[in-house]
Amino acid sequence: MKLSDYLITKTNTLRTTNIIDVKTESLSVKTYTFKDKQCAKAKPGQFLMLWIPGIDEIPLSILNTTTEKGIISVAVKNVGNATQHLHNMNPGATIGIRGPFGNSFTQNHGNILLIGGGTGTVPLIFLAKNLSNKTKKITFITGAKTKNELLFMDQLSNVCQEKNNLIATTNDGTYGLQCLVTEPLATLLNQEKFDAIYTCGPEVMVKKIFELTQKHKLPLEASLERLMRCGMGLCGSCVIGKYRVCRDGTVFNEEQLNEIKEELGTSKLNFSGNKIPI
Ligand SMILES: Cc1cc2nc3c(=O)[nH]c(=O)nc-3n(C[C@H](O)[C@H](O)[C@H](O)COP(=O)(O)OP(=O)(O)OC[C@H]3O[C@@H](n4cnc5c(N)ncnc54)[C@H](O)[C@@H]3O)c2cc1C
Repeated sequence: MKLSDYLITKTNTLRTTNIIDVKTESLSVKTYTFKDKQCAKAKPGQFLMLWIPGIDEIPLSILNTTTEKGIISVAVKNVGNATQHLHNMNPGATIGIRGPFGNSFTQNHGNILLIGGGTGTVPLIFLAKNLSNKTKKITFITGAKTKNELLFMDQLSNVCQEKNNLIATTNDGTYGLQCLVTEPLATLLNQEKFDAIYTCGPEVMVKKIFELTQKHKLPLEASLERLMRCGMGLCGSCVIGKYRVCRDGTVFNEEQLNEIKEELGTSKLNFSGNKIPI
């Protein structure tokens, strides 16, 4: 295959589209809905590159799709230059889309546990909705710094069905348990046997979850977020160990996480390609 064949694919071609709807989810997070037939076929765990004209192109997890209508949603936290510009955009505004990129979560059944931190809940909600009709039980642990930053609580209680299966933690105790998500996780792992565990969130959190599940010899799939530029394994910004997160992930299983455990939650590449502590 020639390099040009690799670069010029339907997935990687930039498509322009218009924002259809913007919904405020919290003080810092908004959900954007738009049409894109390619990404509307995405599976839970996949991401897209969203171009804000004249500003930047950023990676975002896919929150929801309506495949038949070609409609897709992403949820975006305002953390810097590109996301601030996006937060100022309204329905009708033009954006560019490439993707979907990356692999997806394995859709297992049985007793399922999901653990999301911050905007890491985004790909897990997409997954939980896909699993909800096919599986025995879904337990979701969601964590944020404070009550106002807990995301999609209504949607989460729908997929969890029973009240006790949705566990929320906040750092300041304004809602749910005052602790990190790893605390209720440690308790649950001592009480119950899970068939599949999925996580996404800050890498330090993912590392602790990996260590806990390893202790109990349980399967884990984690979606990692690293600096990404190209989204297809060329630029190397997202390297961890022998993997390029955008191409080989973003979802990694426990065997792969074991191979990269020295770097996981410890160091990453910055925009200049230098290794820096996390
Ligand atoms: C696979 C993947 C999925 C993601 N999904 C979501 C999501 O669903 N919702 C959401 O709000 N955010 C998500 N992010 C993070 C989002 O891409 C960054 O918040 C965004 O790029 C920040 O851009 P900025 O210009 O506003 O911030 P900047 O001012 O450029 O930087 C602020 C911080 O954002 C992070 N960041 C900046 N640029 C990138 C980049 N190109 N790739 C990754 N991180 C970056 C860095 O940690 C940086 O310190 C995801 C990241 C990845 C890699």
